[in-house]
Amino acid sequence: MSRGYIGRDWNEKLPPICTKCGYNLTGISSDKCPECGTNVYWFDVQRNARKVYHSLNQTEDLNDLVDVGPYVGGAGAFCILFFWLVRWADGPGRVVGVLLAFLTICSGLQILRSKRVPEWARDLVDVEPKFIKAVINIAIGLALIVLAVFLPTR
Ligand SMILES: [Zn+2]
Repeated sequence: MSRGYIGRDWNEKLPPICTKCGYNLTGISSDKCPECGTNVYWFDVQRNARKVYHSLNQTEDLNDLVDVGPYVGGAGAFCILFFWLVRWADGPGRVVGVLLAFLTICSGLQILRSKRVPEWARDLVDVEPKFIKAVINIAIGLALIVLAVFLPTR
């Protein structure tokens, strides 16, 4: 009765995957997974494919954000150090610097919540969350906050 999704009727952007064991169900015409024997609920399989596809798209956007992070951090460092050096508006400079530092941290934190591309989708989608860059962004942000707080006034 749920055979409507099987075979050629499947038109999601990712292949149908057993929600239990991850077996690729493309071309399978039974309601049981050949790999683990679980009942295949095609509605769940479809929902899962859409969910994963959506989260991969999201990861792509967040990766872009991660790339922007260091520039935001750089602008923050500039605000803190420039006003400190010219001995004018030192306080406001630090406040803006800390705000930019928070944005830098956020740009990294977002990506830490995203999932890696599942094994079965690797061939189709080439989007891996930039975890290392994300951690670097967080470190930059934290360092800026420390700088803004502990830099002695001139
Ligand atoms: Zn299975």
